[in-house]
Amino acid sequence: MSDVRNVIIIGSGPAGYTAALYTARASLKPLVFEGAVTAGGALMNTTDVENFPGFRDGIMGPELMDNMRAQAERFGAELIPDDVVSVDLTGEIKTVTDTAGTVHRAKSVIVTTGSQHRKLGLPNEDALSGRGVSWCATCDGFFFKDQDIAVIGGGDTAMEEATFLSRFAKSVTIVHRRDTLRASKAMQERAFADPKISFVWDSEIAEVQGDQKLSGLKLRNVKTGELSDLAVTGLFIAIGHDPRTELFKGQLELDEEGYLKVDAPSTRTNITGVFAAGDVVDHTYRQAITAAGTGCSAALDSERFLAALS
Ligand code: FAD
Repeated sequence: MSDVRNVIIIGSGPAGYTAALYTARASLKPLVFEGAVTAGGALMNTTDVENFPGFRDGIMGPELMDNMRAQAERFGAELIPDDVVSVDLTGEIKTVTDTAGTVHRAKSVIVTTGSQHRKLGLPNEDALSGRGVSWCATCDGFFFKDQDIAVIGGGDTAMEEATFLSRFAKSVTIVHRRDTLRASKAMQERAFADPKISFVWDSEIAEVQGDQKLSGLKLRNVKTGELSDLAVTGLFIAIGHDPRTELFKGQLELDEEGYLKVDAPSTRTNITGVFAAGDVVDHTYRQAITAAGTGCSAALDSERFLAALS
């Protein structure tokens, strides 16, 4: 059994590393579980990041995350590239168990486990991520000026992505598995009224084509099985996100979509001493800067909580 730490941070994206930086600079000696496979978080899977302030010419996602990691480490954050496999957050002393079965104890825990965008599950999808395939129009729309783009999905997010992209794109084709949309009426109407947006109904993607860059899509009509080609250089996948909250079920309160609930604008969860930040809470903004911002808030909330204990 380990000593009781001040704070354990679970997750290592912009939210986790920012929380680590702030708690380390407050001399709280945070212990950070970075995750076994995906240390650094979602931006490790992308190329240029042009909207994180402070980098006039942009920065590659992995480089940005290496910088954040090194900055947290410089002030004494202890980083462990491992997964947390179980937690008990209910007592005054919280416990967090790693994959080797070691139990770590802390007075405060900050959860920053992020969310996973749903994938199509097709070969090439990951290889072409950041090379024509994207999950975030706000992040990448600007790279697709005057290009033909496809958006996959039929919900509010897909309609929002498509209408946003139509500002830049030559054309936007929404590909949807059904012949009706799930999106709210207002979002549907906005998409239908947009002259740059067209729809391919009852269809799914059979193939994501391209070598170094996306060159097109092969579509399959789900009713007839008929295959067709769609010449696009951009593909935005908008079929949903899954917040990584499995570990916390039964302890932390979740909303109806499975995200952690916090007492906004604070980062307090329903359990005293447990805070949450970043995309595991946020289904609205989902940006690196907002994750970093709430990571900072969680660190400050934790710091104040710990100060009140002593
Ligand atoms: P994440 O970055 O998802 O990090 C969560 C971390 O928690 C991961 O490292 C994971 O391994 C770890 N973790 C999860 N479970 C456990 C566990 N049980 N134990 C230990 N660790 C665990 N945003 C922008 O602002 N600009 C962009 O250009 C941009 N481009 C993007 C491109 C892509 C391809 C994607 C997917 C996203 C992009 N985003 C961009 C969105 C941005 O990456 C996210 O909003 C941001 O990373 C969320 O940060 P986070 O810290 O909340 O979570």
